[in-house]
Amino acid sequence: MPLSSTPNFDLHAHSTVSDGLLSPADLVRRAAERGVTALALTDHDEVSGFAAARAAADEAGIRVIAGVEVSVTWHDTTVHVVGLGVDPEDAALATGLAAIRSSRTTRASRIAESLDAIGIRGSLEGAYRYAANAELVGRTHFARFLVEAGISPDVKTVFRHYLAAGKPGYVPHRWAALADACAWIRGAGGVAVLAHPARYKVSRREMDSLVGEFKAAGGEAIEVISGNHDAAQAAAFARVARAHGLAASRGSDFHGPGEGYAELGRLAALPADLEPVWARLPA
Ligand code: AMP
Ligand code: MN
Ligand code: MN
Ligand code: MN
Repeated sequence: MPLSSTPNFDLHAHSTVSDGLLSPADLVRRAAERGVTALALTDHDEVSGFAAARAAADEAGIRVIAGVEVSVTWHDTTVHVVGLGVDPEDAALATGLAAIRSSRTTRASRIAESLDAIGIRGSLEGAYRYAANAELVGRTHFARFLVEAGISPDVKTVFRHYLAAGKPGYVPHRWAALADACAWIRGAGGVAVLAHPARYKVSRREMDSLVGEFKAAGGEAIEVISGNHDAAQAAAFARVARAHGLAASRGSDFHGPGEGYAELGRLAALPADLEPVWARLPA
C-alpha cells in the first residue's frame, strides 16, 4: 500500500488567523508536504480561515476539517475546547466566538500595562505588529515582541518568565463558560474535544471533575496524542479517555516552524483500543 494512503490525522493547528505563523493556505500545503492526510484548522476563537484552507486542501489533495479552539474559564483555570467539524457559518457559534474576541483587546491593554509596570515599554504596539488579525491579539504575539526586543531568547522562555499564570505580565481573564463552548460547538454540528489536558495545572481530583463536567456538557473526546504531551502524559490521558468513555484525538497544536512547537503530522498513533474522534466526523 503506498504511504500516501495511510491516514494521518492532525486535528489541532493554528494559522495567522490567530497566533500561528503561516497563512491557512500555507499551513495546509505544509501539512500535505509532511504527509498529513486530514488537517483540522483550529484557530483560537475564530473560524474565518476555513475557506482559504479548503481551497488549498482541494489543490493539495488532502482533507481539511473546519475547527476552532475555544478559550474557556473553568473555575479559575483557562482550558481550551477544540471543536471539530463545525459549520463555520453557524450563527450561534459566530456570536459566541465574537464575544470572546471582543474581550481580547481590553485584555491586551492590561497585559501591556502590567509589562510597562516592570519596565517593558511598547509591548501593545509590538504585539499588534505580530497579530495579523488584530481581534485575535494574544499572549503569543506579546511573546514574539519580547523576543524581538531582546528580553528573552525564545517564546517559551518569555512565557516562563513573563506570561504564564502568576508571572508579572499575566492578567487573569474570564473566557467563555465550559457549557457554552460545548453547546456552541455541538449546535454547529461539531464534536467537542478537551484540548491538551496535561497542560492544566489541576489536581487529579479536579481533572476528574473537569472531565466529568465536560462530558455532561456534551463533550465527546479528549486529546490523548498531542504536541503538548510526552509519552507518559499520553498514556495517562488514554486512561482518562477509557475511564470516562471519551473518544480520543490526535493533534500537533502546530503554530509555525522554528518556535519549538510540535511539527505537523509527526505524532504517535492513537492507542488501538480507543475510538478515534474522526470516526465521529462526517466523511
Ligand atoms: P492566549 O489565548 O492569548 O492566552 O494565548 C494562549 C496561547 O499562548 C496558546 O495557545 C499557546 O499558543 C501560547 N502559550 C501558552 N503557554 C505557552 C508556553 N508555556 N509556551 C509557549 N506558548 C505558550
Ligand atoms: Mn496558540
Ligand atoms: Mn490551546
Ligand atoms: Mn492550540
